[in-house]
Amino acid sequence: VVVGLGDTGVLTAARLARRFDVVGISPKPGLVSGQELGPRLAQTAWWSRYYRIGFDRLKKLDGVRTVHGEVRQVAPERQEVHLVTASGQEVVESFDALVIASGVSNGFWRRGVVQDPASVDADVAGVAESISEAGALAVVGGGATGVSVAYNVARHHPGKAVHLFHSGAEVLPSYHPRVRQRIASELERVGVHRHPEHRAQLPADGAPTALTSGPIAWSTGQEPFSADVALWAVGRVTPHTSFLPAEMLDDQGFVRVDEHLRVPGYLGVFAVGDVAATDPNRSSARNWGFKVVVKNVMAFARGRDKSLKVFEAPQHRWGSVLGMQPDGIIIFSPTGRAFRVPRWLAQPLFFDAITMGVIYGGVRRP
Ligand SMILES: Cc1cc2nc3c(=O)[nH]c(=O)nc-3n(C[C@H](O)[C@H](O)[C@H](O)COP(=O)(O)OP(=O)(O)OC[C@H]3O[C@@H](n4cnc5c(N)ncnc54)[C@H](O)[C@@H]3O)c2cc1C
Repeated sequence: VVVGLGDTGVLTAARLARRFDVVGISPKPGLVSGQELGPRLAQTAWWSRYYRIGFDRLKKLDGVRTVHGEVRQVAPERQEVHLVTASGQEVVESFDALVIASGVSNGFWRRGVVQDPASVDADVAGVAESISEAGALAVVGGGATGVSVAYNVARHHPGKAVHLFHSGAEVLPSYHPRVRQRIASELERVGVHRHPEHRAQLPADGAPTALTSGPIAWSTGQEPFSADVALWAVGRVTPHTSFLPAEMLDDQGFVRVDEHLRVPGYLGVFAVGDVAATDPNRSSARNWGFKVVVKNVMAFARGRDKSLKVFEAPQHRWGSVLGMQPDGIIIFSPTGRAFRVPRWLAQPLFFDAITMGVIYGGVRRP
């Protein structure tokens, strides 16, 4: 059983289905990727083509029984997963091996709730429209998500005032210093107004999970700031783990794993992706954790501990930050080197051939 069919769950389930009977449980009716919020809001049609894909379109998922629903409880001693389907039915799935890939909540764009396709569409379109109609946008948070939104909105909505507030002197704290510098100059180039050393006062109930419109107050002493619309990307992620025994979790509620992505003390239980407490950046999603977990589930099934793979994470985050643009995509290596690949090459190579063809193993037309 694979709990959660997001970016890592889909890849894990698809590969395990070559050898095993796999059940994948997902509150969404298809892959609704948590990646690339900026393109999602400012280049929605392009984003949807690659990041929102019905499960029936993913060829390698043909061998996976997908269940549209939400897991409510995992009972490891009985090897059972208890869930409620989208139509309200209570169902129990038994497992020999369990992979937890339920990700995290992070603002309005990554929620664990059950949704049908119309509701996913309404979510994606509604926020993009609100931002498109606003004269001025404030983005709070200088991590990858905040930077991606500020850049994409400024670039694709010329004339809109975009303000990016971040608490440190620089953006992208967990990236290599070279990446921070490059991104700062890219933000400047598209006219984003950057406001360093601004730490927002969060409402008592936590960071807003919807767009807001009131003034934003700062605990760093500056005057409150008002924009037509504010988007909060302050990195307060909440792991989707309320359905798991507390002993499986670390102090922050993420799933404890060893170097083989096994949950210590629970034979046959694995975790991968943003929910798994692997390294300080919890980066197994982007660092091919699904390959490690697939190998290790196979090793477990064969009773071969010696062939277990080790998950290793680079110190710095890497990959794309700004997403695809009219002139191509910038990819950063873990050592901070930047490679700009022109769009005429990047789109057919990275997105159509590598992501859709190789990583997903073929995607049917909608
Ligand atoms: C190939 C690849 C390349 C990447 N490249 C980049 C990059 O260049 N730059 C970058 O910043 N990041 C990149 N990422 C990483 C990305 O930003 C996130 O880390 C990734 O989206 C997290 O995936 P996930 O599967 O852990 O979570 P999610 O994609 O959020 O999936 C979790 C799923 O679990 C579901 N769920 C929640 N609760 C339950 C429940 N109770 N029962 C059942 N299901 C539940 C959720 O609804 C969701 O569908 C990449 C990831 C991959 C796989």
